[in-house]
Amino acid sequence: MMTAHRVPCTPVRAGVAQLVERQLPKLQVTGSIPVARSKRTVESQEVARLNERRFLFWTCNFGLAIADCVPGGERVSGTFELSLDVLSRKAAECRRCPLADGRRTVVFGEGNPRASLLFVGEGPGEVEDETGRPFVGPAGQLLTQILASVGIQREEVYIANIVKCRPPGNRVPTRPEMEACWDWLAAQIALLRPRIVVTLGNVPTQWFLATTEGIAQLRGRFHRWRGGIEVFPMYHPSYLLRNPSKAKGSPKHQTWLDIQTVKERISLLCPTPGA
Ligand code: SF4
Repeated sequence: MMTAHRVPCTPVRAGVAQLVERQLPKLQVTGSIPVARSKRTVESQEVARLNERRFLFWTCNFGLAIADCVPGGERVSGTFELSLDVLSRKAAECRRCPLADGRRTVVFGEGNPRASLLFVGEGPGEVEDETGRPFVGPAGQLLTQILASVGIQREEVYIANIVKCRPPGNRVPTRPEMEACWDWLAAQIALLRPRIVVTLGNVPTQWFLATTEGIAQLRGRFHRWRGGIEVFPMYHPSYLLRNPSKAKGSPKHQTWLDIQTVKERISLLCPTPGA
């Protein structure tokens, strides 16, 4: 068996605030921002826009910088500190798409906040919706086994989904739903700064790679993404549950090879355990 590898490893882990400072002009607001439009004293339209939307996500050449805009008469500072915990609490209130109506919980994601490996699935299922945790049903248990087969503990990585609320009947999330939810996942990526994103199944793979090619064609190799992050598609564990054969060339056998490839790559990118 391969030795356990401490997956957390991010050589350049500038805080999000530093990322904002480095890549975007600072947001400087000197006026108060009253709720009532008639009393608004701020100078720029930009600030008014900030006041209407509590979270803004600016795309930059890496990916994102994040600003938390405080509404209602409070000053807005030019730098922002945002943690996954804070982001999670904000997301728990999200009603940006119709999936909010049928959910029990917002399944934000969980794992090591310093993980270099991020696994992204499609969306929460029934068990996940009940528990508020990603990949804890049968497919999640299989994912845990897949990780363990190469000596990676589930707690070492971070796990999330393209949409954070369960689609009715576990249907595939729609494009508008994924677009609405992307800001949350993009913010998680900006905070985590993973080296590798493993996309599980067609939906997250096609989203990340902006392609209509299927998982069978895309799996098993690294694809360059933004900010030096590499995307590695693998079959979704629920697909493997439906295709349990371990015969050579089967999806399960291919996945076993794939996770070894991921393990080797992350060991190369992050050679110092615990770094
Ligand atoms: S799926 Fe995402 S965007 Fe839609 S309500 Fe849930 S958290 Fe918000």
